[in-house]
Amino acid sequence: MINYINLPFMINDLVVYPEAEDRARVIDFDCRYELITTPNSCTCCTFRFSSRRDPGYKCRHIKALQKVINGEVAPDYNA
Ligand SMILES: [Zn+2]
Repeated sequence: MINYINLPFMINDLVVYPEAEDRARVIDFDCRYELITTPNSCTCCTFRFSSRRDPGYKCRHIKALQKVINGEVAPDYNA
């Protein structure tokens, strides 16, 4: 099990900061809001809008969190 909790991950223009195994705070490059993202939900507007039509919809914040959970990205200690 990879320990990624409480480490910052830079993924493209996002900073993903996992607070628990399945929950992260996500900061978007051009967004003033901090998002709460889990593997199947997100507080961003894109997710809230799109998931009404497509219940399996995954926004880029969810996809970024999945990369962290899957160990596909290394933590960025400077983020
Ligand atoms: Zn999102």
